[in-house]
Amino acid sequence: MSSTQSFIYKEPAPILDKENPFESMMQRFDIAAHLLNLEPGLYEYLKMPVRQVIVSIPIAMDNGEVKVFEGYRVIHNDILGPSKGGIRYAPDVSLDEMKALAAWMTWKCAIMSIPFGGAKGGVKCDPSKLSSLQLEKITRRYTSNLIDIFGPDRDVPAPDMNTNEQTMAWIMDTYSMHMRRTEPAVVTGKPLLLGGSLGRREATGRGCMIVTLTAMEKIGMKPKDTSVVVQGFGNVGSVSAQLLREQGCKIIGIGDISGAFYNKKGIDVDKALEWVKHNKTLAGFPGAEQIPQEELLELECDVLVPAAKEDQITQWNASKIKAKIICEGANGPTSSKADPILQEKGILVIPDILANAGGVTVSYFEWVQDRVGYFWSLDRVNSRMEQMMKAAFHSVYETAERYNVPLRIGAYILAIDKVARTLKIRGIYA
Ligand code: NAD
Repeated sequence: MSSTQSFIYKEPAPILDKENPFESMMQRFDIAAHLLNLEPGLYEYLKMPVRQVIVSIPIAMDNGEVKVFEGYRVIHNDILGPSKGGIRYAPDVSLDEMKALAAWMTWKCAIMSIPFGGAKGGVKCDPSKLSSLQLEKITRRYTSNLIDIFGPDRDVPAPDMNTNEQTMAWIMDTYSMHMRRTEPAVVTGKPLLLGGSLGRREATGRGCMIVTLTAMEKIGMKPKDTSVVVQGFGNVGSVSAQLLREQGCKIIGIGDISGAFYNKKGIDVDKALEWVKHNKTLAGFPGAEQIPQEELLELECDVLVPAAKEDQITQWNASKIKAKIICEGANGPTSSKADPILQEKGILVIPDILANAGGVTVSYFEWVQDRVGYFWSLDRVNSRMEQMMKAAFHSVYETAERYNVPLRIGAYILAIDKVARTLKIRGIYA
């Protein structure tokens, strides 16, 4: 394996079994800041989000009863441009999770050379227990509570877990009603009819495919000899599986919340997608053998794509992972305590802030198209995204080699250095 693997981590501070995502982000930030010799003042500045907003969202439920939900929007940094980041609806949404995800967005945009800062938002709720009307009310009230935060030049939301094109349409409409004009560029990930971009839905999975192939080329792996396991079969996981299969790889394992499935002869990804379309999950999928959930990540394979959620590869299972490459489709799927274990095993980890940046890249294209009022062909979207993903991969790889560190730390160094230098040139306003 390349020299990008020989840096030895310092032992992270003791943390609980399930990592606090902000602590997990900070463990990597600290290593990169130390190697960069970041000035203490800049360290403090870049560590803290510039704004953290908590809003209360009272909703009249379908039976008239009032229920109050808690919503968050964290802007980690807006030095490079308007802040950008998704909105997630889930029962376990927390301010610390938002802080970590917002910082990851700052680093992601910096790595991709996109003129955006980083943000993340969410509402603590269980969408599976809410009607469409209740979700619409929550979304509109959340938006109106944050009307002074959002804006095409200020802060631009996008979908994340349990939010989708429809959620973005409600945000765009609510914002437009308050502004007394139609403002498509206030969100990305919108329906095409409202000014969405061709290729946005597939962008994150497509980006994962591009960086995986680029990494494979670096270490001399050929798609036709490559077996792949994908955890998560939603937007990111299913598209990654589909496109890697199209490139000639064999998908031998897939899984979602309902279970994990294995077929050493190769899984027909289109059939699995068709199954999920009709049955909502992979449960009962006949094209593969069901295996215990925890065995999926530990299968004998060449490439592993964790594309479900945080904290899946941990100190407890990292030593059992057999893949040569891990492409982090999800945000934060690897805990900081798993990093040194994977490094010791010589696994090439394409870190989340690079691997899943195809989504924010095409979101950026969507924002550009909305602002100019001229819409691109799918070919133009895909080819520009491919160019940017490959360029970012090579920049991260070169940085990692220069500092003799794994790609993840290389990615943090590249991003922190870019934001810190921009901050220094702009100066501190007082
Ligand atoms: P999604 O809701 O479309 O899909 C999530 C998938 O993960 C589903 O198949 C679900 O069943 C599965 N899953 C959930 N919990 C699981 C568990 N405990 N074990 C196994 N599978 C589980 O979400 P998505 O948009 O594909 O996002 C997945 C991840 O990618 C998230 O971490 C998200 O932040 C990240 N991400 C998404 C985008 C994007 O453009 N959608 C961009 C960047 C990063």
